[in-house]
Amino acid sequence: MKYISTRGQAPELTFEEAMLTGLARDGGLYLPAEIPVMPQDQIAGLAGLTYEEIAFKVMWPFVEGSFAEDEFREIIEHAYAGFDHAARAPLKQLNENHFLLELFHGPTLAFKDFAMQLIGQLFQVALKRRGDRVTIVGATSGDTGSAAIEAFRGLDAVDVFILFPDGRVSEVQRRQMTTPADSNVHALAVAGDFDDCQSALKDMFNDFDFRDSVKLAGVNSINFARVLAQIVYYFSAAVSLGAPHRKVSFTVPTGNFGDIFAGYLAKRMGLPIDRLVVATNQNDILHRCLTGEGYFKGDTIPSISPSMDIQVSSNFERALFYAYGEDAGAVSQLMEELKNGGFKVSQGAMESLRENFDSGRVSEDETLQTIQSTLAHSAELVCPHTAVGIKVAEDHRAENVPMITLATAHPAKFPAAVEKASDVHPPLPSRMSDLYERPERVTRIANNLGAIEKFIKGQIAE
Ligand SMILES: *Cc1c(COP(=O)(O)O)cnc(C)c1O
Repeated sequence: MKYISTRGQAPELTFEEAMLTGLARDGGLYLPAEIPVMPQDQIAGLAGLTYEEIAFKVMWPFVEGSFAEDEFREIIEHAYAGFDHAARAPLKQLNENHFLLELFHGPTLAFKDFAMQLIGQLFQVALKRRGDRVTIVGATSGDTGSAAIEAFRGLDAVDVFILFPDGRVSEVQRRQMTTPADSNVHALAVAGDFDDCQSALKDMFNDFDFRDSVKLAGVNSINFARVLAQIVYYFSAAVSLGAPHRKVSFTVPTGNFGDIFAGYLAKRMGLPIDRLVVATNQNDILHRCLTGEGYFKGDTIPSISPSMDIQVSSNFERALFYAYGEDAGAVSQLMEELKNGGFKVSQGAMESLRENFDSGRVSEDETLQTIQSTLAHSAELVCPHTAVGIKVAEDHRAENVPMITLATAHPAKFPAAVEKASDVHPPLPSRMSDLYERPERVTRIANNLGAIEKFIKGQIAE
């Protein structure tokens, strides 16, 4: 499979090259040149398989040519071995027709582990074969960073630097990033918000001297390998509720649009998904856009669901690419306009987006109420991001179509909000109960590209 950039000006790459590169050199995001379609009888054949077997069958056409079959199977086995639930992504029933897809049984308690654990193994195998090493820099609103540090710690072919907004991640998130002692991983607390971290990261990728001198690689959700790993659980969940013989809908707590975009690809691959519902908190640029107001940046307002406190959703560019009929020129133009604040979406592209996506926005109060009511009615304690999803899902349920809400993090990752809403303190799973006692290691750094690049170069040189 070849990979192309959403902006049309970067070379076509193999899966392995696109994965190791992250952001395309024209500023765009890589996508497969064609979306492979899985015939309905093959989708039916996924019923009853293990998560790992489904993962292999769903992802293989995307990676073929970069990895051998046995090698890829082994990578998948390795990636999910550290999850503490045999089903990896179990489904729980909330009420008659509403299900929770629990994606928080990985090592850092959020869905990011599904992609990051896989990508860690893929990088290690690919780099070893090449006799190469890379520097991974990531920006995080909390969960990506902890998942990346956990996935890459101790691997000899990579150094990892994670930028996170100082004071704007939960204590559990911070400790998951600052307590691993391995010398190849570094947590950087940036004096700014998540969008500042993300834009510093983009600028590093566009600084070709720096990019080449440190062999910069990215594992943010712009990395197509991340999106790919997330397609798998849409299949496993839908099939266990009767797909392809029955349609299902998904509601996805959304920030950078990576998770829900994986659902869109699952649909394009032939999985019978009825609606894909974008759930946002008060940082609602996607909801405003999908309801016809255009895509215009606002200020990021900190919320109790901080992993969704995002104004510019990187992966939305991929959805726009398809909505504009794969017109890379049009996408480039929109991204130019975004630099000056935003853009209107054309009527044709709006219609295309609406064919697949609905959206809803949830206030802070509604989030707290939903945590409380979900505990009262279904005996499930959910994290604030998941609560945003549940509320929007309830507003978008259709008769006879099961709704699956993605439970994106474990409640113990956001104990303050959960306790405020429910009066219940969510305990950490026993395997990480000493998290609060482990020593922390963190570097505070200015919101300044030069300072960040200098620090990274200095650390690698050592
Ligand atoms: C990252 C994250 C999200 C948002 O996912 P995107 O792929 O960025 O849309 C939602 N909830 C949690 C808990 C997350 O960590």
